[in-house]
Amino acid sequence: MTTLRRHAVTLIPGDGVGPEVALATKRVLDAAAAAAGVAFDWEEAEAGAEVFKKGDTSGVPAATRDSIERTRVALKGPLETPVGFGEKSANVTLRKLFETYANVRPARELPGVPTRYKGEGIDMVIVRENVEDLYAGIEHLQTHDVAQAVKLISRTGSEKIIRFAYELALREGRHKVTTASKANILKFTEGLFKQVGEDLGKEYSSLEANHLIIDNVAHQMVKDPAQFDVVVATNLHGDIISDLASGLVGGLGFASSANYGDGVAIFEAVHGSAPKYAGKNVINPTALILSSTMMLRHLGETDLADVVEDAVLATLEAGKALPQDVVRQQGGDVEAATSTSGFADAVIQSLGSRPTTVPAAASRPRPIDVKPHARWTSGEAREREVGGARVVGLDLFLQSLAAPAELGAKLSALAGQELTLKMIESKGTVVWPNAAPAFDPTGLFRARFLARAEGSDLPDETLLALAARVAGVAPWVHLEKLRVWGSEEGFTRAQGE
Ligand code: NAD
Repeated sequence: MTTLRRHAVTLIPGDGVGPEVALATKRVLDAAAAAAGVAFDWEEAEAGAEVFKKGDTSGVPAATRDSIERTRVALKGPLETPVGFGEKSANVTLRKLFETYANVRPARELPGVPTRYKGEGIDMVIVRENVEDLYAGIEHLQTHDVAQAVKLISRTGSEKIIRFAYELALREGRHKVTTASKANILKFTEGLFKQVGEDLGKEYSSLEANHLIIDNVAHQMVKDPAQFDVVVATNLHGDIISDLASGLVGGLGFASSANYGDGVAIFEAVHGSAPKYAGKNVINPTALILSSTMMLRHLGETDLADVVEDAVLATLEAGKALPQDVVRQQGGDVEAATSTSGFADAVIQSLGSRPTTVPAAASRPRPIDVKPHARWTSGEAREREVGGARVVGLDLFLQSLAAPAELGAKLSALAGQELTLKMIESKGTVVWPNAAPAFDPTGLFRARFLARAEGSDLPDETLLALAARVAGVAPWVHLEKLRVWGSEEGFTRAQGE
């Protein structure tokens, strides 16, 4: 058949089992495409462990960045990240470099895959914010033994991802969007996310919108997963509940995902490099093959996506080629399981077949276009974000092994004419002027100084002079200005304040 359409795609095989699942997926795609008059121009690129070993501390070399800038589409295997030390995750670097803010992870009951929830009709999509939150990766040691990470949530970022979730629900013919947050505890960060979910929900009146606290989402997902349709969450929560969701429908061997930005998309399995299986040709390649169907839809190859998805479903349904993880769950002989390459062969042989016990891909509502449309924060809101605040005080984070009463007395005496020491807290709980009944010192305190006069707008000199005086008593580690926008305070009270 003559080639009608060509697509350039950056292919990153990745680490561990990555090259095996990437090759399996590439073979399936090439076979399906050839039959449909489509061709892929694969640009193979490196990222991850091997790149770190060569001394590139970003894990994503310039050639790989250039390739993605050219193709705007990448299919990638998992990348290894040292845990707890060493280089930053090359995965996160890739997602952040290309601002792929939307991570989409579907979890749907699959034929032939044994689970505890068989027959309940699980069919949900977790939409995870992908570039903010604790994954901003801004961490500091406050003392040698007290570490802190910044949880960064912006209104623009929340709007982008939550609007994306509502739009995805519309495009996929879904009915309900659940915003999941921890707004009961984290009033500003998660509270902002919840608020945006509620505000945008009013715009999408044809969809049912609700909010659930994230821990309840975890509980409900295990108890009654079929109630969920689209769930949108901040980065870390989305990471955890999407793994939970994949566990409901067969585990990591089946969990596909896509990372969408404005104009760039990266498709990958949810699973990691599974090093103990690397090079053994035993891992299940379904997750990456299903991720590649999301890529095909993104490229506008909807029919081809349906063909590949149906071939995977038909293969699993037939039960003749079962990867090791399925055989293990069935309690069968893993030695007799189908290899990674063997599963790809079986899918290739099934191209053109459709499943009979679950809806075929083509019979499901067809996502028309998964690219988000941009209509972000209003100009007025942006202006509010960068200006218009009065400075009414200072939080000083400082190191001290002194007793709170002693520290309080010393810092009060240093507050000066314009400021007063309002409170001192440890781990977020007030320890001065009221003593906490059970106080376990860490060596780090936060002292809050507030302006004495109503309506003050404190100049930097006042704050810096205070910091200099305090430095004579205890080394301060960082400063946080306390600001108000009109009557809206930009800081929370400490526990017990
Ligand atoms: P992992 O997902 O690599 O493996 C955990 C276990 O899940 C495996 O031991 C295996 O039992 C099972 N599993 C994973 N993929 C499977 C598949 N395709 N088929 C069948 N079973 C499968 O998680 P890990 O061991 O925590 O992480 C290993 C490395 O991968 C780490 O360096 C981690 O940082 C990295 N990682 C990368 C990504 C990514 O690239 N997106 C995601 C997660 C972890």
